[in-house]
Amino acid sequence: MFKVLTCLTVDHDWRLVALAALTCLVASVTAISLFSRARAARGRVRLVWIATAAAAGGCGVWATHFIAMLAYSPGVPLGYGIGLTALSLVAAITITGVGFWIALADDWHFAAPLGGAVVGGGIAVMHYTGMSALEVPGRVTWDIPIVVASIAFGVVLGAAALTVAVRGDGLRHLTASALLLMLAILSCHFTAMGAASIVPDPTQIVDTSSMSPAMLALAVANAALAILFASLAGALADRRVRDKERQLATAVNNMAQGVVMFDDDHRLAVCNDRYLEMYDLSPHVVKPGCTLEQLIDERVRRNGLKRDPKRYKEELVAAMSSGSTLSATVEYEDGRVIYIVNRPIGNGFWVGTHEDITDRKRTERLIAHMAHHDSLTDLPNRALFVEQLQRSVDHAAREKANFALLCIDLDRFKEVNDVFGHQTGDGLLREVAERLQAAADGAFVARLGGDEFTLISAEGPQPATAEALCERLVAAMARDIEIGGHLLRAGLSVGVAIYPMDGRDMQSLQANADAALYRAKSEGRGLVRFFQPNMDESLRERRALQLDLRSALERHELYLDYQPQADMAGTITGFEALVRWRHPTRGLIAPGTFIPIAEESGLIIPIGEWILREACREAASWPNPLQVAINLSPVQFQHGDLPGLVHAILLETGLKSGRLELEITEGVLIGDYSRAISILGRLKTLGVRIAMDDFGTGYSSLSYLQAFPFDKIKIDRAFVSNLEQRGQSAAIIRAVIGLGRGLDLPVVAEGVETSDQLSFLISEACSGVQGYLIGRPASIATFGDIVGAGAKRRAAG
Ligand code: C2E
Ligand code: CA
Ligand code: CA
Repeated sequence: MFKVLTCLTVDHDWRLVALAALTCLVASVTAISLFSRARAARGRVRLVWIATAAAAGGCGVWATHFIAMLAYSPGVPLGYGIGLTALSLVAAITITGVGFWIALADDWHFAAPLGGAVVGGGIAVMHYTGMSALEVPGRVTWDIPIVVASIAFGVVLGAAALTVAVRGDGLRHLTASALLLMLAILSCHFTAMGAASIVPDPTQIVDTSSMSPAMLALAVANAALAILFASLAGALADRRVRDKERQLATAVNNMAQGVVMFDDDHRLAVCNDRYLEMYDLSPHVVKPGCTLEQLIDERVRRNGLKRDPKRYKEELVAAMSSGSTLSATVEYEDGRVIYIVNRPIGNGFWVGTHEDITDRKRTERLIAHMAHHDSLTDLPNRALFVEQLQRSVDHAAREKANFALLCIDLDRFKEVNDVFGHQTGDGLLREVAERLQAAADGAFVARLGGDEFTLISAEGPQPATAEALCERLVAAMARDIEIGGHLLRAGLSVGVAIYPMDGRDMQSLQANADAALYRAKSEGRGLVRFFQPNMDESLRERRALQLDLRSALERHELYLDYQPQADMAGTITGFEALVRWRHPTRGLIAPGTFIPIAEESGLIIPIGEWILREACREAASWPNPLQVAINLSPVQFQHGDLPGLVHAILLETGLKSGRLELEITEGVLIGDYSRAISILGRLKTLGVRIAMDDFGTGYSSLSYLQAFPFDKIKIDRAFVSNLEQRGQSAAIIRAVIGLGRGLDLPVVAEGVETSDQLSFLISEACSGVQGYLIGRPASIATFGDIVGAGAKRRAAG
């Protein structure tokens, strides 16, 4: 120890010692930071970094040594052998490189201390090789214990330096390990210098080919430059790496997916911004180094992850440890759907990608929904209904249960559409759908199209449950529906069929519920009918009737009755022709029964033409030029040339057009409104008169009366027959008469049966009356006196 101190105090130039220390510091910092770059790299890139670090470290050790040697003045002239000096540099670089390489061996616990020890050994090798290059006129002797101590300093501190270096990349680790390396180099050098003593021996001649101190200084300057170059190269490469990293980070952060990477300890290595944003995670909690458990806890706290965090973690760790990929679709409380894929990437590291697929899922669901739902009301559509009905049949068959199928029709929906427009019609359907669904109380409701709805009631005993359900449905429609300022009413007709008694398969159940619905509608609308076996029969009967009707004309089974119409003084002004069918086996059939069948089958066209011709021919034959009123079906307006036909028949029969009155209902104007108006206009130009029949039923829109210059309004007989029972009827009759007065239109009341009714109508200044009180519909022969034929017959007789 004394010797060491001696050489430091007596034999060294302190300025050069300080320079040596500075060189050593720069070299150590450079070597350690390059080493940490090598640690972060793999494969060939790592080797390049190791070589660069070794060059910086080796040159540093070497330069430190020789600068310190320049500071050393033993009092004799010194020279340096070129060969050994060069060898010491090569040895320093090589051994340092090997040491670094060992320190980075993967999966070996003592790699870093061992590699560091090798580096330390390299320092000593360099020193003693460098010392043996020394040429002095004297003998150099060594103090062996100090030599051993110097080697130990290098090895132990070198090991410590790299052990710290592999712990982390932060400034703390870098500084600490660089200082340790510097200490290793300096302590090794100066201890070793203390081990050497030179005993002057003038006989020893310094080799003249050896380097002078000046040449050595040049060589050292070169080595120092090499360190500078290495650090420059390192800095440049570092910048490139950092740029690349920045680009990569930008790319990763701009990904639509959240990305997380965990290390072999299941600690967070990196995650992108999207990941934090996606789960609304705090970057203070979720940062590199945080554990998987902490991260999952944070996600549970922020997103209400609906999973046991512990089990979730265990599953993940198990999958990642076994090297298998774990993917899942997770739904969150806020409605988001996230697809997670976790994938091991080697070395125990694994990467998780998190993709927000909420929109895609929503679109998928929407498309699936649209395929099975009606876009207007959002109720299940026909496709879904058929599936559901089949399921209900299967289930009931299996469980020996029963269920009810309801077919529903809105009464007079078409009129709403035609009178108020499609927008109002759509609004009505939507409201009806809502009310049906609310009243259905969990039963399956579907819209099959138009105004057709259907329900499947599978809960509870039948038919009691279906009965209660029907009651609720009808009650739900009792309140007026307001759409766009119009107050509308949606009456329901309902047909019900029950499994298994009304059918054991889909088809027969549907057919029978339809038959029941048909019955409900034909019995007056707004009714509920449960299927009964005879309904099936009545449908068949209807078809049979339709068949018979085809031949009724040719077989002269149709004939006309006439009902008188009078003015308020009781004078008969004309007759309404009413068609009858005398069926060969069924007897007399009322027009209320067969006209709808004729309309459905199109038979109304030839039948209507026959009625027109027959009534005109009859009226033309009367001596008294009374009016004749003929009913027209809406179907007659839709087919053929009605004005042309009327014109031809008037010419053919010789009836004056002014004596003919055509009665139409609102139904004529519903459908192709403008076509109907144009046909009515052409009829009117023929000179015939047009009466609005059954006024007060349906929508009785004022716009109808304004759209066409009618010649007469006929108040529906329902109001007249209800006069005594309901005050409302009187008010309506009064209003219609007032309306007619305003429009300068005569108002005729139908169905007058009592003198009380007649007096009321007289007091209200009604224009005309028709009804049993005046005369029942009967064969025209009955009215011979009135039409003048009787008088003619008497005169002839
Ligand atoms: P509508 O045009 O309203 O004919 C008047 C109906 O009221 C007739 O029934 C008539 O018998 C009945 N009626 C008349 N006075 C009274 C009364 O005081 N009390 C009661 N309770 N009823 C009375 P009908 O003949 O059974 O005709 C029913 C419907 O059949 C007609 O109603 C009309 O819509 C249609 N119809 C009748 N004949 C023809 C026709 O030749 N062509 C077309 N297209 N339809 C016809
Ligand atoms: Ca009529
Ligand atoms: Ca009528």
